[in-house]
Order: sequence, then structure tokens, then C-alpha cells
Amino acid sequence: MILSGREIVREIQPILIKAVSEEKMRQGRPIRLTVVEFGAFDDAKLYAESIRRVMQKVGIEFSHYKLDGNMDKARAHSQLCEIIEKDQATGIIILSPVPPQLNHRELVLNIPQEQDVEGTHSLAERSGFHAYPPTALAVLELILATRVPIEGRDAVMVGRSEIVGKPVAMLLLAHHATVTLCHSRTRDLPGHVGRADILVAAVGKPEMIKGAWVKKGAVVIDTGENTMGGKLVGDVEFEEAAMRARFISPVPDGVGPLTTWMLVRNLLTISKKTLSGAKL
Ligand code: NDP
Repeated sequence: MILSGREIVREIQPILIKAVSEEKMRQGRPIRLTVVEFGAFDDAKLYAESIRRVMQKVGIEFSHYKLDGNMDKARAHSQLCEIIEKDQATGIIILSPVPPQLNHRELVLNIPQEQDVEGTHSLAERSGFHAYPPTALAVLELILATRVPIEGRDAVMVGRSEIVGKPVAMLLLAHHATVTLCHSRTRDLPGHVGRADILVAAVGKPEMIKGAWVKKGAVVIDTGENTMGGKLVGDVEFEEAAMRARFISPVPDGVGPLTTWMLVRNLLTISKKTLSGAKL
């Protein structure tokens, strides 16, 4: 079965719209998202536009600051801190990429943890309250949609980034899977993949996980967004993997469409100042 992110969005959209409206009533103030962009990068612009559309749909205020891409580090940090101080937003996002003289990781550390709606502070830097990165929540949402039990299953996460691999592994662990985290120095990747009841790919290399490695009946979630021959493809060889998997998420239209909606969930979580769970 193909796991369509768009179908899940159709299901959760009315729930989130209602939840936002109730939360605004409860708080007696708007929920606001501030997005800060340094320079002009097409990927960042596209992401900002998709965020704006979703926020408009759910009734969350949206401010978008487009800052000069030539400023030095000191100025970038001070302008960012001024915006954070002035806006008092529920959540803040610094779009990626940033110009080469700046460092995205250093910039996000200016965001107070309780406003870090993308969960960009690394797991080691977080303390107490934190939101999970929306991509990781989108992966979990797709797995939950299969209704295949997670508890006790062998889950293999390929990729160990702070924004996808590690948080997905933590979420699966929280759901009592037996989790293996693979990376570029893993020996025998096909062997690990072949044991996975639940396989999640976040590598960033087109179709590097071969369909023939996939365990029969597995759940396969592909976060990869790579261009190959002018086409968007995932990290998993889709056609071949689909012949063996019980559930598989396509690229595009799998994880991607859900990600921005998970930002809404994180904004609600932040607004309620409770720890993020997998379900609302
Ligand atoms: P990173 O580049 O930060 O991490 C890639 C990971 O893959 C690293 O941990 C790396 O290992 C591992 N890796 C690289 N080569 C191999 C290999 N040959 N075998 C096993 N592991 C390997 O990528 P991200 O996590 O940021 O993104 C991964 C993919 O997900 C990308 O395609 C990206 O575009 C996509 N993405 C999609 C999002 C969405 O919302 N749909 C959001 C964010 C990302 P090591 O640590 O050892 O270097």
C-alpha cells in the first residue's frame, strides 16, 4: 500500500484547524509564527511559501522577515535577536540554507528553546521542553497510519542527522521499537535493512537503498528529496521496494506534505507549553 501524506493531511487538517481556534480562545491571544530568511535561496522561498499557505488555512499569524544575505555574523545575530525580542512569537524558524559566511546551527541557538518550533536545537543542547522536528513527527504519523504495531518491532533508521535520523530513532524508541541507527560508517547496511520491520531512510542520496534489501512485509518510509534526471526521487529504490514492502511512502507526496502540518502541531504544543506527543 502506498502511504500518501496528502491523504493524512486531509484527515488531520480539520482537527488542527479546530484545535488552533480553541487554543486561541483559551489563551485570548493569537498564535504567531515568525520566519526569518537570510539571503534569497529558492528552496527557502518555496518552504516559506508552503508554511505561509498552511498558517493562513489554520488561522495562525505569520511574519516573514527577509534579511540581507551579505551581512556579517555579528550583524546577523543582533538583527535576529532584535526580531525575536520584538515579535514575541509562539514559534520561530530560521530558513535554511543561509549564506556561506553564516552558520545555521549557530543562528538557531539564539532561539529560546520554548520557541524552537522546528526542534533545531540538537538533542544534546535541549533541556526540559523541546519540540520534535516536524519531519520526524511526519515520519511517525505515517507509521502510525499503517496501524502496524511499533512495539517490539525491529526499526532501522538510515541517517543520523539532528533534524531527521536521531529524532525519528528517539520517537520509535519511545514507542518501544528495537531501534538500529545506521550511518555512513555502518558495516553491512543491506544486512541491517533486511532485518527491518520498519525502515526509515534519511540519507540524501538518490535510490541508494536498494529494493532487493527490503524485508518482505516491511513498512518503508522515505524522507529523501533528491533530484535525479530532473525528477524528485527518494533515498529508496521505489518500484523494487514497493514489490516487497507492505506499506511504502512515495517521493514526492509521502513525508513532504505532512511536514508543514506538523509545524502547526508543534505551535499548538508550544502554546500549551506541554511536551510534544505523537498524537494531539
Ligand atoms: P544529512 O545530510 O544531514 O544526513 C544524512 C545522513 O545519511 C548522515 O547521518 C549520513 O551519515 C548518512 N549517510 C550518508 N551516506 C550514507 C551511506 N552510504 N550509508 C548509510 N548512511 C549514510 O541529511 P538530512 O537528515 O538533513 O536529510 C536526509 C534526506 O531527507 C535528504 O534527502 C533531505 O532532502 C531530506 N529531508 C526531507 C525533509 C522533508 O520534510 N521531507 C526534511 C529534511 C530533510 P554520517 O552521519 O555518518 O555522515
